Amino acid sequence: MKNFSGYKCSLCGTEYLQEQVTYTCPKDGGNLDVILDYEAIKKKFQPEDITSRTESSLWRYLPLLPVDEPQGDSTPLHAAGWTPVFALPRLAKKLNLDHLWLKDESRNPTASFKDRASAVVVTRAREIKADVVVTASTGNAGAALAGMSAAIGQKAIIFAPKSAPQAKVAQLLVFGAKVILVDGTYDDAFDLSIKAANEFGWYCRNTGYNPFTLEGKKTAAFEIWEWWEEAHHDWHKKNSPLDGHSPLTIFVSVGDGNIISGIHKGFKDLFALGWIPNLPRIIGVQAAGSAAIANAFNANTEIITPVSAVTIADSISVDLPRDGVRAIRAAKETNGTYITVSDAEIIKAIAELGKMGVFPEPAGATAYAGLVKAIASSVVRSADPVLVLNTGSGLKDIRAAMQSVSEAPIIEPTLEAVKKIL
Ligand SMILES: *Cc1c(COP(=O)(O)O)cnc(C)c1O
Ligand SMILES: [Zn+2]
Repeated sequence: MKNFSGYKCSLCGTEYLQEQVTYTCPKDGGNLDVILDYEAIKKKFQPEDITSRTESSLWRYLPLLPVDEPQGDSTPLHAAGWTPVFALPRLAKKLNLDHLWLKDESRNPTASFKDRASAVVVTRAREIKADVVVTASTGNAGAALAGMSAAIGQKAIIFAPKSAPQAKVAQLLVFGAKVILVDGTYDDAFDLSIKAANEFGWYCRNTGYNPFTLEGKKTAAFEIWEWWEEAHHDWHKKNSPLDGHSPLTIFVSVGDGNIISGIHKGFKDLFALGWIPNLPRIIGVQAAGSAAIANAFNANTEIITPVSAVTIADSISVDLPRDGVRAIRAAKETNGTYITVSDAEIIKAIAELGKMGVFPEPAGATAYAGLVKAIASSVVRSADPVLVLNTGSGLKDIRAAMQSVSEAPIIEPTLEAVKKIL
């Protein structure tokens, strides 16, 4: 692989060659960062070489990825990424913000952010000739692995807690994965999937364990970079009062901490290449009932103490986050912070985004709920340009969605009855 020279442990800094390790640091279990050869990339590519590509998926960033492009260019694997950014002027006004946007990751092929990670991991699996790919999942990572695997005929096995929302289990099954529901938590499924992978020689995709998930997730940062450059360009043309140097503030919901770390990595890549002058501010949002990373951040430590997670936002319900240290650094090193929100605030956020034409699952609405709180506590000011991520589709958890609205009336099929309820 062209630009991929090995791994570096995020805890002890030890570097490894490609062949030496597969998952985490053998010394301390730290998450491994994929090392890209920035000098080689810089010599070969200018930003325009990427931004002028017509590929409308995450594969437009191939020069910055540690895998080769997958074979066959019209499968769902080539539909991951390149999600739209919507302006939300009515919500901005309500929140007294000058500029607010939402990047809608529910538009991915299996309807969550996780497709970015799974697209890159199944491509890696092909390259190392893995027969079977396995993952533990609260639902979305599994659906994404199952869907991306189905797209290219790869065998996939998914361990999910038996409490996973039905729509997500349906996705797993329809995509033809072997689905194993565990009578336990996501964390139980996580530990079991690693044991099984070791026992049977499967390639394990687990979040915060396989270094390639981060590499897929970082492509969201590249897209935000391209979008932001263009948005700035437009403002300059229109002579907008927006200060060209106001850093963007990005809100992202956090469970294991791999998405926020991936977004951080993407911007660090661009910074190392000299393609951006500074990093945007990254703010992580956790459910109050599943806040191990926020707790550590607030205690100013990188030691993560597990919690007993309870939240309606199943995708971010995690006892022991597997990418907590890098997730803390993502906020710390970008002048960001962590915010926690209650389930009631999450449910309210579903309804608010719904009225803008966006339908998030609870974990997807969590980022917006965090923004509402950040404004109330002056973490964000009116002039700060803000981008929130919606990480997953509301169709994945309609039971939660129904909690955010009142039931529709059922009436007799008569005009009288209509008049009565209007
Ligand atoms: C996985 C997921 C998250 C959180 O990502 P982590 O890497 O676990 O922090 C947020 N929202 C949705 C919808 C997800 O599926
Ligand atoms: Zn280490």
